[in-house]
Amino acid sequence: MRAMVLEKPRQPLVLRDVPKPSPGLGQLLVRVATCAVCRTDLHVVDGELPDPKLPLIPGHQIVGRIEEVGEGVNSKFKIDDRVGIPWLGWTDGECVYCRSNRENLCDRARFTGYTIDGGYAEFVVADARFCFYLSEQYDDVDVAPLLCAGMLGYRSYRKTGDARRLGIYGFGNAAHLITQIAIYEDREVFAFTRPGDKAGQESARKLGTTWTGGSDEIPPEKLDAAIIFAPVGALVPTALRALAKGGTVVCGGIHMSDIPSFPYVDLWGERAICSVANLTRRDGEEFLEIAPRVPVQTRSETFPLESANIALEKFRSGKLKGTAVLVIGAG
Ligand SMILES: [Zn+2]
Ligand SMILES: [Zn+2]
Repeated sequence: MRAMVLEKPRQPLVLRDVPKPSPGLGQLLVRVATCAVCRTDLHVVDGELPDPKLPLIPGHQIVGRIEEVGEGVNSKFKIDDRVGIPWLGWTDGECVYCRSNRENLCDRARFTGYTIDGGYAEFVVADARFCFYLSEQYDDVDVAPLLCAGMLGYRSYRKTGDARRLGIYGFGNAAHLITQIAIYEDREVFAFTRPGDKAGQESARKLGTTWTGGSDEIPPEKLDAAIIFAPVGALVPTALRALAKGGTVVCGGIHMSDIPSFPYVDLWGERAICSVANLTRRDGEEFLEIAPRVPVQTRSETFPLESANIALEKFRSGKLKGTAVLVIGAG
């Protein structure tokens, strides 16, 4: 089968003909239809995340149809069912985190497209317990960006509790999806883009945000919570200063530049900073249940598998008009 392979971080992916995997115990073999490109793929390819499997097939927002059901698959999945394969690919199910509904923190967790092979390929194997059914309301291209940007964004959003005024810093894919849910749930969204990014501000405004501006601007009202999706540590003290007492800054990314120091008074008043790591299956299920009701609309730009490097480069330089989606065997 054809696959785009990372042989070494900080090098372009190479198109390779590799053996088609076969499903092990509890696994599904999935014929990949589409795979959306996530910022985390960039962090892996750019060597910003430690110890990836090498060589590695990246990609963890995978949509496909089941080709083969491995032995011991203890679920409702059958051949030809459409499934989504997310970032969280395996957990041990027995550590203190797994046993307390925090499988996202499992010490031995494995991740699709990072420590196990992902979806920049014609086929992928996945542990059936971590695959999702996908609403038929979405086609293969439109549903792919929901699988990480949407699910992780949703976990970040849930960490903001019942915040009425919600700031979102970094208006990329996750922000685009989560803003739609926040507005559906009657929150006021304050969107912060890169300073001077008029196009980004326009697209945020179109979603119905209460206020949009540059991340260097002070919003007209204090925020109850803020989510930072941009991998920019300097935004943490900035967002903190925009919060009302008792507010929380949620850092939604897996990688962020260092956070500069700031005066304690900015944290005082029971403000809090937290991060969001990975996702649980429950986050995914909740998100996939609410998304078609909103309904959450995705925007994407499609590429053939062999153009994965072009997709990654356009992502890196901020030139994408939506989520990059590799179209591999859709339709
Ligand atoms: Zn565990
Ligand atoms: Zn991701």
